[in-house]
Amino acid sequence: MISAVEVELKSQGEPPLSPTELRALYRDEGKADRKLASRQGLWVAVVVYLLFSVPDLFLIPDVANASIAARFAVGIFVLLAIEIQFRMDAETRWLDGTCAFALVTGYAAWLATAIQTEHVQSFSYYMIFGAIFMMGANLFFSFQFRLSVISSGIVLSTFFLALYFFPSTRAYQFSFSLFYISCFAFTSYVNWKLNRERYNVFLNAVEARTQQKEATERGKALLRLSRTDPLTGLENRRAVDEKLRDYWNDWQLFGSSFVAILIDVDFFKKFNDCYGHQEGDRCLVRVANALDATIKQHNASIGRYGGEEFIVLARMERQEQVALLAEAIRKTVENLGILHEQRRDGMSIVTVSIGAAFTRAQTGAKLEKIIHEADRALYLAKASGRNCVRLFDPNDPQSSDESENIAALLKIAINQDLVSLVYQPIQSIEAGRLEAVEALMRLRMLDGTSVPPSLFIPVAERTGAILELGRWAIRTVCHELIIDNHVHLVSVNVSPIQLRTPGFAASVAAILTETGVTGSRLAFEITEGLEMEMHSDILRCISDLKLLGIRIWLDDFGTGFAGLSWLRLIDFDTVKIDRSFLHDCRSPRGRAMLQDIIGLIRNRGHKILVEGVETEEQLLLMREFGIDKVQGYHIGRPAPAETFQVHPVSAKREARILKLA
Ligand code: C2E
Ligand code: CA
Ligand code: CA
Repeated sequence: MISAVEVELKSQGEPPLSPTELRALYRDEGKADRKLASRQGLWVAVVVYLLFSVPDLFLIPDVANASIAARFAVGIFVLLAIEIQFRMDAETRWLDGTCAFALVTGYAAWLATAIQTEHVQSFSYYMIFGAIFMMGANLFFSFQFRLSVISSGIVLSTFFLALYFFPSTRAYQFSFSLFYISCFAFTSYVNWKLNRERYNVFLNAVEARTQQKEATERGKALLRLSRTDPLTGLENRRAVDEKLRDYWNDWQLFGSSFVAILIDVDFFKKFNDCYGHQEGDRCLVRVANALDATIKQHNASIGRYGGEEFIVLARMERQEQVALLAEAIRKTVENLGILHEQRRDGMSIVTVSIGAAFTRAQTGAKLEKIIHEADRALYLAKASGRNCVRLFDPNDPQSSDESENIAALLKIAINQDLVSLVYQPIQSIEAGRLEAVEALMRLRMLDGTSVPPSLFIPVAERTGAILELGRWAIRTVCHELIIDNHVHLVSVNVSPIQLRTPGFAASVAAILTETGVTGSRLAFEITEGLEMEMHSDILRCISDLKLLGIRIWLDDFGTGFAGLSWLRLIDFDTVKIDRSFLHDCRSPRGRAMLQDIIGLIRNRGHKILVEGVETEEQLLLMREFGIDKVQGYHIGRPAPAETFQVHPVSAKREARILKLA
């Protein structure tokens, strides 16, 4: 199997060199060095050649003048030639040619003048030095094999020519010829070997270089892959984290401010469920490409931060610029117009929610904090109906440090006894008696001040603390009111986060077993809330809870987008109409609206509870409308368990409680 790195390398790799190209490369390599070596070699050779004027004077004094003159003529000529070539940057082969020419003419010029000497015997010995020219061609200079053989061959031929005219014995001729030929063969062979060796060394060097280059490329490809998101081709979380660190360091060291923008594709799980994962991937790729193009115009960088979440980092001087960039990003995705018909909020295209956080002096010394803040802003964007931009605002209680304190408080709330339940009566209109109570959670801080549920419940949902608090609430309800039969039915608020968590129904069953309470004594109120997407997990959980005998009520009906579709999917025992509808009843339109809603719910066969009954008139109106149950300050305010704990359920006591409240 080919690895991703190989694919990446292949896509950018060069084809291997052909033998001809290799040869050309060999010739080109080290050109300057070789030219210098030829020039220096020739200078040394000429100096030695001229120094041999001394043996000329000693061995062949009668023709020494001529031979020395010949030496100087050749020497000066070839040195001039090579200097000109060198300065004119002639090719190496021309410089080598000059050296070969120098050898051949040097030998010939000396031989031609020296052979005319009267000192025949001296010259017969002196002739042996011709071999040095052959050695020079084959071993001293670094000629290519062909040039070596040609020049040393000419030297050899010149020797034979001279031998022909030189009066000598057969033995002399035989031994000198043998010497010259073997010298020629031997040095030519060594030259051939040297040349081959040099070429092999060159090949090895090329191979080493190629391997080195490949290793570097492979390293680079690996690095690129480890920093790239395979689906979208954007930088992945790892790369973004590194970049974020750089931005952060610049902010700390030089005060260059920047913004971190988190972008979340709205209802993406629903998109995947509806159109399939392949289409989901395609959607992410389109969004990624479009975002990439947009942010390039703003000199920012983008990465995929997780599933359907992207992050943009951009240096920015003023916070006012943030909104422009974030809005441009939001618009980009909206303009793509990718169809998403299964959304439950009235839109039918893919959109994004955006949370941004800008560096600020108080941000503290931790870099994670800016992401945390962007995340909070994103949460608010989703809570505000999605397809919108929110910038983290440190003064907003929903996103301020206060919620961090609350998160910390929630962790210790149960152990430190900071959390408690109060109960609000629910009256049956027809029977005029207490039908049930709703358990409402209360939280106090360590100094005793209470934290409103509107603040701590969203934090508990976001941090997951709601899971433990929820179990605690169910267990407490059983202990405080049900085991001893004080109240017949208690409704408990359950957040969608709990319903979505695997094992929630099982944990409820365990509490029922542990306390010996039957499920039919409990009702769970669920609100469409933030997580409007109806997961199949939630439906499964609800049917499990129903199997335990627990009644399911729909809370705050009419406040969210999803209420109607929830009515279609789940068979609620009771639907609680949000108090805002009752309070709007003062106007004829509001009244008609409430009647419509009541009609709709009644047609579907659910019992109806109206919340927020604060006056006698409202209670009478509800009776007139034929509502089943009512709840509100007029019926009874939320009160501690003791209020309901006097006796086990009795009609008389119920009447007293309701009156009391
Ligand atoms: P909710 O479930 O709609 O609870 C009713 C809220 O309306 C309570 O506020 C209650 O005190 C208030 N209320 C009752 N009657 C009247 C009335 O006549 N007029 C007015 N103006 N208000 C009335 P509270 O206790 O502050 O609870 C707020 C929300 O917090 C609850 O709304 C519920 O969504 C959530 N919550 C409370 N306890 C829990 C819990 O144990 N678990 C979960 N998940 N959520 C909870
Ligand atoms: Ca409720
Ligand atoms: Ca409610």
